[in-house]
Amino acid sequence: MSKWKTVIGLEVHAEMETESKMFSPCPVVDSVEADPNSAVDPLSLGMPGTLPVINMQAMEYGIMVGLALNCEIPEINQFARKNYFYPDLPKGYQISQYDRPLAVNGFINIELEDGSTKKIQVRRAHMEEDTGKLTHTMGGSLVDYNRAGVPLLEIVSEPDIANSAEAEAYARKLRSILRYLGVNNGDMSKGILRFEANVSVMLETDTELRERTEIKNLNSIRNMVKAIDYEVKRQIKLYESGDKIKPATLGWDEANQKITIQRYKERADEYRYFPEPDLPIVEVSREWVAEIEAKLPTLPDALQAKFTEELGLSAYDAGVLTAERAIAEYFDSIVAKGVDPKLASNWITTDVFGLMNQHGVEREAIDTIPITAENFAGLLALIENGTINQGTARKSVFSEMWETGKDAQTIVDEKNLAQISDTSVIEETVAKVIAENDALVQKFLDGNDKLINAIFGKIMGAMRGKGDPKIVRQILQSKLDEMK
Ligand code: ADP
Ligand code: MG
Repeated sequence: MSKWKTVIGLEVHAEMETESKMFSPCPVVDSVEADPNSAVDPLSLGMPGTLPVINMQAMEYGIMVGLALNCEIPEINQFARKNYFYPDLPKGYQISQYDRPLAVNGFINIELEDGSTKKIQVRRAHMEEDTGKLTHTMGGSLVDYNRAGVPLLEIVSEPDIANSAEAEAYARKLRSILRYLGVNNGDMSKGILRFEANVSVMLETDTELRERTEIKNLNSIRNMVKAIDYEVKRQIKLYESGDKIKPATLGWDEANQKITIQRYKERADEYRYFPEPDLPIVEVSREWVAEIEAKLPTLPDALQAKFTEELGLSAYDAGVLTAERAIAEYFDSIVAKGVDPKLASNWITTDVFGLMNQHGVEREAIDTIPITAENFAGLLALIENGTINQGTARKSVFSEMWETGKDAQTIVDEKNLAQISDTSVIEETVAKVIAENDALVQKFLDGNDKLINAIFGKIMGAMRGKGDPKIVRQILQSKLDEMK
């Protein structure tokens, strides 16, 4: 029997974090912190007689995103009216783009679990204005127009995504790129970034895509993954019981962990798009595009390639270190001081992230932790030049650097932690421990090879963890060899 496979296309709405709205000088404010309707003007409210003016900063941000997503940027851009009635849209239409969008034919590379890379095609990205926000209460519905008119970039993928893990990778990569560009902070809980998943399933023998449903109101990537998995199972179950999938808009009910059907789509939405008569066509000159391209920061893919190819990191580690620009910069500045990249990578992804988790610091805030990149590079240098070993660094220096903000050398001096690599001192300790642990040594000599680790542990203990582990092991080994 033929098997079911999943088909997903993502539509992403990203607010462009400009000072003012898309078509008016009205300021953009924090949607949670600001009082409702404190940032509105006649344009946001759709008053008759108002005229829109294009926010060119928003256009530039949109083009930055288009370029970062490997899109073509057409020379002619046109805004269009998308007509529909809803209380969050007082004009009765949304200014959007239709057949002449800002960016087309791009792609995003995602890393799959097996370490390979997959290209997910980006069909288009177009500029539009956000709508107001409705809050439904017992007494009726409330509307806040602070968000109405905020620049919004809609990014539409091809249905190239094959499961929820790929959808997650796409969402994380896109979010990361937006944050690298500094055009959107990626906060899904505040609705600054919103994902909608179009989901269908098909048999491997099918030659055409089947009906899809669209899941909205996903306030985190984790919930998006859960919602997709739930919806795929629901669709397969319906098909297998002889039912059909009706096109519908769905929501994710977080409290009950299930999909809810918001409305069935009886027929295709009819928005009666037509060119926006109040706005000119925007010509995007090639010079302008080149200027914007020259200003783009190094993006995660390029950094990841640098970290794997030039620094010899695994694709996985490079992916973790480049997910946030601040982490990549922290790592990069440590390596620039001559520290071994693998040592730096291991310490950041285990010890630094560990302490950050403990203290509730988000990954993107790594540049605010008490262990500055410079001090951290200093710690790793002390390990590399043999002043302290990794055990001592971990146990006695690292967390103290976090608590006190002191540099590693100062702590090593204050606590007298320097590693002992003086062979005569080590030889003396090895001889002493062997003499004091007759029974243990005898068992080792009788063939229980693993006991060498116990003897090693006792020597390190006698040296209060400060012995150079390599030299201790060498001397212990040769002493025991002599005794055989
Ligand atoms: P519309 O024009 O009605 O918005 P599109 O064809 O433009 O529909 O697709 C919107 C989104 O839905 C895109 O992200 C696309 O990849 C995705 N999509 C289209 N068809 C399917 C399908 N059968 N299954 C899953 N996703 C789909
Ligand atoms: Mg749409």
